[in-house]
Amino acid sequence: MHLGSLLAAVGSFLDARSRGGRWLVRVEDLDRARVVSGSAAEILRTLEAFSLLWDGEVEYQSRRTPLYAEALESLRAAGRTFECSCSRRELSAADSGYPGTCREGPRRPGPTAIRFRIDETETVVFDDRFQGPTAAAMGKLGDVVVRRRDGIFAYQLAVVVDDALQGVTDVVRGADLLESTGWQIALQRALSLRTPRYAHLPLLLERAGGKLAKSRRSMALDAGRAGAQLLNALRLLGLSPPTQLAGAPPATLLEWARGAWRGLPLPLPREIVPRRGLEATPAD
Ligand SMILES: [Zn+2]
Repeated sequence: MHLGSLLAAVGSFLDARSRGGRWLVRVEDLDRARVVSGSAAEILRTLEAFSLLWDGEVEYQSRRTPLYAEALESLRAAGRTFECSCSRRELSAADSGYPGTCREGPRRPGPTAIRFRIDETETVVFDDRFQGPTAAAMGKLGDVVVRRRDGIFAYQLAVVVDDALQGVTDVVRGADLLESTGWQIALQRALSLRTPRYAHLPLLLERAGGKLAKSRRSMALDAGRAGAQLLNALRLLGLSPPTQLAGAPPATLLEWARGAWRGLPLPLPREIVPRRGLEATPAD
């Protein structure tokens, strides 16, 4: 985890707890080949070090594949899927989305991905609680992969199934997933599932060699400095913790923030760049 993922964790935690809700943790580990052994346990330990304590059992997507298979079959039976033989290289030539190459059938024999057939005339509109009214033109997004060529269920299908079956009322996450929301709502409609409320938190950008990069590698979290890093995260989210809270443990900071969360100035920005001094550099 890094400061950017801490923002999403803290923002969703505070949003749930300030409204009397439960905060759920789900491990998205469908791509077994890419899952680093022990990483889920490490993430859970980090959450605990920041006093971000979840409600109920942790769900693991790798244990839920029959549910995704059932949803996929329901889409197929409704004529909403097609097989796609396009290679990554063929698709990288397209400007945006999927050009619809295999809508009438795959172009060559061999293993295929399965795509969700979107309605290209549809514009999905939703009122994002943090970003305001948002529209997604499905024709521009294109047909999305719901099962990969290697047989692994894709993120977009899995989260839609999980959100519905876990009874999720509010999805609070980083704005890097704002665009995916159009697909997810279209999938919910095709599967006759309820659409939760969405709220997208600002995406943290970092300064790397003078240019801005999405925060992924740097600004690593350090359990030994959890209080200071949590204070940074609260400020980056737009809260103004009083100076007396400097040096306070994470649980105390979260208790204060839970009360302050409802006063969060909206709409939130889609992206933020930390000012000098707010960056969680290891040297400070
Ligand atoms: Zn194709």
